[in-house]
Amino acid sequence: MRTGILGGTFNPVHNGHVKLAEAYISALHLDRLLIIPANIPPHKSDSGLVGASHRLAMCRLTFADDPLCEVSDIELKREGKSRTVDTLEQLVLLYPRDRFFLIMGSDMFCSFTSWYYWQRILQLAVLCAGARKASSTDDEMEEQRRKLEALGACCELVEFEPLPISSTLVREKIFKGESLDGLVAPTVAEYIREHGLYR
Ligand code: ATP
Repeated sequence: MRTGILGGTFNPVHNGHVKLAEAYISALHLDRLLIIPANIPPHKSDSGLVGASHRLAMCRLTFADDPLCEVSDIELKREGKSRTVDTLEQLVLLYPRDRFFLIMGSDMFCSFTSWYYWQRILQLAVLCAGARKASSTDDEMEEQRRKLEALGACCELVEFEPLPISSTLVREKIFKGESLDGLVAPTVAEYIREHGLYR
């Protein structure tokens, strides 16, 4: 099986994540995509982070109707910081016949060699990142791909135009009492209202 891995804080999950998931499933011909909310993200501060059970529930609502997307609580069950290398080691044991495609943002791809145990990660997964056509990051990413492949990595750059949405924007809208239409799934907007999140 070709299994994609999309990790993140998902605080909360939004339509930018959905478009990203759809683009990678199609471009990489994935058989399934694991959406993996982080317990304690290694690259971000945890201030303003709502509880793991809420972030997991919102991911499940968002991807409920997509049979290729599976929301996994693998990182939420592990204590401490969520390290990608630990997640991959666990997934390899769980699904020994799968090929793993690790999806990351362009910034993460360009700083990949600062990740914890990055050498092991590139033995376990294909590194995948989105590049905007004819942008300066495109050249930077091609350069990084060459460097990483010389170090033994397999890389896939996918042409992708992201939606201008972030979890930060969603949290700001909620704080100001503005509508979330078009930003998150209606079921997630309802969940946020019901539980009084991000106020
Ligand atoms: P925040 O605003 O809190 O920093 P975020 O919107 O970046 O959060 P994350 O959960 O950190 O959300 O993102 C998970 C993954 O999704 C990351 O790889 C990130 O680069 C990617 N991502 C986030 N928003 C978008 C978007 N609009 N389009 C494409 N990819 C996105």
